[in-house]
Order: sequence, then C-alpha cells, then structure tokens
Amino acid sequence: MTPDFLKTEIKFLKGVGPQRAEALVKELRIFSLDDLLHLFPFRYVDRTQFYRINEITAEMPFVQLRGKILRTESVGEGRSKRFVAYFSDSENVVELVWFRGAKWLQSKFKNDIEYIVFGKPTEFKGRFNIPHPDIEAASDDNLRLQSALQAVYPSTETLKNKGLDSNGIRKLQATLHQQINNNIPETLSKNLLQALRLMSRESALKNVHFPAGKNELNAARFRLKFEELFYLQLKLLKQKSFRNSTSKGLLFARVGDYFNDFYHHHLPFPLTGAQKRVVREIRSDAGSGKQMNRLVQGDVGSGKTMVAFLSMLLAIDNGFQACMMAPTEILATQHFYTIKEFADKLHLDVCLLTGSTSARERKKIHERLQNGELKFLVGTHALIEETVQFKNLGLAVIDEQHRFGVAQRAALHKKNQKPPHILIMTATPIPRTLAMTFYGDLDLSVIDEMPPGRKPVKTLHMSDSQRLRLYGFLKEQIKEGRQVYVVYPLIEESEKLDYKNLMEGFDSLEREFPLPEYQISIVHGRQTSDRKDMEMQRFVSGTSQIMVATTVIEVGVNVPNASVMVIESAEKFGLSQLHQLRGRVGRGADQSYCILMSSYKLTTEARTRIETMCNTNDGFEIAEVDMKLRGAGDMQGTQQSGALNLKIADITSDVQIMQQARSIAEEILDKDPDLNAEENQLLLQQMKELERSNTIWSKIG
Ligand code: ADP
Ligand code: MG
Repeated sequence: MTPDFLKTEIKFLKGVGPQRAEALVKELRIFSLDDLLHLFPFRYVDRTQFYRINEITAEMPFVQLRGKILRTESVGEGRSKRFVAYFSDSENVVELVWFRGAKWLQSKFKNDIEYIVFGKPTEFKGRFNIPHPDIEAASDDNLRLQSALQAVYPSTETLKNKGLDSNGIRKLQATLHQQINNNIPETLSKNLLQALRLMSRESALKNVHFPAGKNELNAARFRLKFEELFYLQLKLLKQKSFRNSTSKGLLFARVGDYFNDFYHHHLPFPLTGAQKRVVREIRSDAGSGKQMNRLVQGDVGSGKTMVAFLSMLLAIDNGFQACMMAPTEILATQHFYTIKEFADKLHLDVCLLTGSTSARERKKIHERLQNGELKFLVGTHALIEETVQFKNLGLAVIDEQHRFGVAQRAALHKKNQKPPHILIMTATPIPRTLAMTFYGDLDLSVIDEMPPGRKPVKTLHMSDSQRLRLYGFLKEQIKEGRQVYVVYPLIEESEKLDYKNLMEGFDSLEREFPLPEYQISIVHGRQTSDRKDMEMQRFVSGTSQIMVATTVIEVGVNVPNASVMVIESAEKFGLSQLHQLRGRVGRGADQSYCILMSSYKLTTEARTRIETMCNTNDGFEIAEVDMKLRGAGDMQGTQQSGALNLKIADITSDVQIMQQARSIAEEILDKDPDLNAEENQLLLQQMKELERSNTIWSKIG
C-alpha cells in the first residue's frame, strides 16, 4: 500500500463502482477510501454467541442460530402474504418470515448448506418466529466475519436500495481492510502512545470495524476518540497562542475620565462582585497589548449590559470608538435606550443603526463614524456591512452571540487595521466542556452572581383546562400594578398556524381583559419595525399591562416591572428557550412567576423539560439536562458543531477524554509552542494534513 492509497476515489474499491460511489458521496460524504475507513459504526451487536432454538425467549433483543433450511413456502393472501422458511438446528424448528421478496428468496436458499441466522425473535400464537432476519451461508469467511462483535453502520434509504445497508457497508469495510493489509501510518507520537498506553492507529482502525473482543474494541474507540479530540484541542490552543504572540492588540493603557466619572458618580446601582471581577478581567486583557477575544457568560438578568457599557467607556477613554451588536432589532433598540441613558450622563453621543434606519440617517452615521466624531454605536447586523467604516474601532461587543456565527466575528475583526478587542456576551449557559470546544480559542469570564434582592422566579405548570384560574391570577397581578407577558411559539415550518394561534390568543385575551381597563400590546414577526417599536414602547412605558408576543422577545428585553411570564404551548419550546423567556421576569424586587401552559398529554421528553423548569432556576443545571435530552450537536449556541466534524468522539459523553486531551495539548504547547522539537514533528505534520483535508472537504461541501 502506498501512502496515497487511501486517497483513492471510493468508486475504485472492489464492490463499489460508479453508481454506488455516487450514492456514497451524496448520502454519507464518502469520497475516498480514507473516508470509508473513517465511517465509524454507531453501535455493535454481540454475535459471539450462538443459541439453540429451544433457548429462544421473548426478552431476547437478538438471537443468532446455526442450521439448515428444511423447506420454504409462500402462505396467505393480499396483505398477509408472506414467505416462510422452516429453519432447523437439527433438534427444533423456527419459522423465518419475510413479507416481501418471496421470489428472490426462493431462488436464494438451498437445502443442503448451513446458514447463520440473526434477528429479533417475535412470539406469535405461542410460537417464535424471526421476521426479516439476516441470513448468510456459514462459510469460513462468514463465520469469521459474522460471529463476532458486529459493527452496525449508518445507512440511508437510497443506500439501502443500492445494497448498502449496514451489512453491505460492512462488506466494503472488509474488502478495504484486506487491501490496506496492515499498513496504516501512526499519527500520534511515541511518547504519547507510551504515556497513555494507547493502541496503535492501525490496530485501532482495525478493531473499531472488526473487534477482536470487547476489550480491544474499548481500547480502539478510546484511542480514536482521544486522537480526534487531541488534534481539535491542539488546533484551538495553537490558534489562541498564535493570536497572543503575533497579533498585537490595541492598547487600552489607561482608565480615563469617562470611566472614572461614570463609575464614581453615575452608577445606578453598586456592581455585584462578579461584575467587578469581569470588568477587571477585561481591563487587564485590553491593557496587556494583546488582542482580546473574551466570552462573557452570565445567566439572564446577571447584568451583562453594564459590564459591556463600562468596557466601551474604556475604549473611548483611550481614544477609540466602540460598538455593540445585537441579534434582533428589538434588542438593539433596547440596548440603545439603556446605553443612551447612561451615556447622556457623560454627554456622550450614541447612535442606533439597524436595517430600518433611514438612508439619510444612515449616511450621517457613516460619515460621523468615519471622521471619528461618533464614538458609540449600537446596532444589528447592519453594523458589519461593508459600507460601515470606523475611524478607529477599539472594541466590538457582540450580545447574545449564539445568534451570530464565526463569520460575523471575522467581519468585525476587519473593521480596523489592527483588529479591535472583541467581547462576546452570552446568556446561553454552556456546560464547561462545550465552551472549551466551541470557544476553545476564547478567554472565558463568568458572571456567576445575580444582583441582590432578586427573588427566584416561581414556575408553575398549568394545563389548558385551568385557563380561568390563570386569567384570575393575571388580573390580581395587574391590579397590583404588575405587567404580564404572554408568549406563543414560533416554529418556522408552520408559521401560518402559529400566527393563527397567536391572533386567536390575542382575541381571547382582549375579550377577557377589555378596554379601557386593560391595554394589550402585541409584537410579532409580520409587523413593520416601526409598529413593533411602538408596541414595545407602550409596554416598556407601562401604558399597556399585557404583552402578547412570539419569541421575538426571547432575548434581552428588559422591563423590570413585568412579573409574570405566561408561555403558551410550552411543550413546543426547547429548554434553553424556556429559560431565556423566564429570564424576562424576576428583574424587579417583586415576586415573579413563570406559568407554563400546555395540553394535558405530553411526551416524556416534553414532560422532563417542563418539570426541569419547575424544579430549578439554575441555568447551568438546565443546560446539562438540555444537553442530555438533545445531544450536544443540537444545542443552541453550538450550531458550529457541524464545523467540528467529529467522527467518533461525542462532546457530550466524552467529557473526560476531552479534558485529558486538552491538558495534554496544553502541556505540549507550553514546552514547545511552535512544535519544533523532534518528538513533535509527527504532530505538526498531522495538524497540517488535517488542515489540508479540511479545506478540501469544505470546498467540496
Ligand atoms: P443580562 O445579563 O440578561 O443582559 P441586564 O444587563 O439586562 O442582564 O440586567 C438585568 C437587570 O438587572 C437590569 O434591569 C439592570 O439594570 C439590573 N442590574 C444589573 N446589574 C445590577 C446590579 N449590580 N445591581 C442591581 N441591578 C442590576
Ligand atoms: Mg442582555
């Protein structure tokens, strides 16, 4: 086998050919032999054991038998038509049943040869049969291949139609392994292999597809997961150290008048310890001469806006401009008002730039940014458009980053000759291990303390039949001067239906809470942004007591007087969304409530979500449950997971391996930051190789 052998196109593998190759590329992105080698089984079935027919029980998930076919027949008519093979281990007989493919099966079976049968036994009228079993001639090859821990591969309808179900793919793997003939190069250094007692790569790749036994399989999987996570961490850490060593950042050398004036004379409340700590961390970053990339994580309501504002003042004190970007217009507008209130005290000018800023206003903002007159800008994506040019942008704050991707971060980098400092604020609590992966190249600050005097929000679950009680409760709260949110789900696939639900809900609320005693605001995606603004402002100013909305209010909206959050069809929301929504209340000193409305019948998963919400207010705990329910790949805030392109490791369940991989990568880079040492050459080479194949991959994709 030559080193380039594995780069051979998949269509040249024996048993593939152009048609199957096309399907493999399309369905599983398998272009080359190497890709096939890295298509890992997602589970194994234990086929080490053969049973006798009289040992079969109803509890067995699978059973494997050896024996001969006595006779076959087609029985029944129409829908119950089936093909039956009477299979015997020479003592007893069991029926193998197929509901399709009778003709083909008839021609396939011979009476005089021995078969291996594998399938799930089903009890029918007191007798066992095995519907649609796997069946293979018991040749020596098959016995070796079949009677083991057997890999199960992912497949798709299209592939199955081309004979590439899990079994078909396993056969391709077998062919490939014969050709490779134990010639897979090692990718981890000797030191690492020895220190961690890792299986060689060759042996690992062999055992992961064709395990010699349980221990070998475990060792193989560990080795491959470790390798994958190790190179991921090595890459992230190297990016980080590269940035720190080469890209000189803008220096915020001093704390100046704006910061001091505001800090000592205009703070609307004393900062919490956590806020102070994070501001200090930011100051020391920005004053270090390195470019800052910091993620500030703090649960909803922990006071991230103030931290952002103080950081922006630091930028201005050092002669730079600062901007803040939010994911939605409503949120940007809210930030604008909050920040304007603070900035007014310092006679600092702030502007708002969003998609609906008028052309005239926009032009003026562009000019004033470019000549440096305007120091402070708040906005949406509109901020990163090409036409927006700053004179000297020093700090960009990105709020609720999970809505933005890596690309936006890069675009902000380019807004200044030297990249500005970047501060990312997120309320999505991400378990540490995920943060380590997705933001592995960022520094992390955590605001882990709530402003004082907050009472935890009480969360209740009510079913639709208790609606009258709900309305009574809302009236009481409104009588006491409180305000109420009522939120409806917004699911893109059925936008029409959602809109209908929202409007029906609005109508029935209007009937129950009539004018002039009550005023209701409504905000949804079909309104113009002027209209949204107006409705929002009516609620913010207290003119309306009830805000009916879709999830557009999910992030960041701040109305401390609002004390009740009613979430309609709560079962349709994900956990992190529910948590975000609940975070809209409980911002003032009053007892707040979150009421989860749902129909009576719930799936187990929906029930777990709702119960979790009722049991805890802790964002991190909720994130952990969310991660367990959904798997890490789907979590909000982790859309980049696809970019990680992990083939065998799972960032949810392989936490320990990830930690180990990270600390070992750190150790290596500490001693040898550029991987110049002889012993690290292999690592360097493999990093380059991975980078190269990733670029090719993304070009094809
Ligand atoms: P988030 O972290 O969710 O963005 P905000 O910055 O919107 O939170 O702050 C939530 C509320 O808490 C706001 O009304 C804000 O004025 C208030 N707040 C922030 N920090 C403090 C503090 N240290 N003491 C009291 N209230 C605070
Ligand atoms: Mg916020």
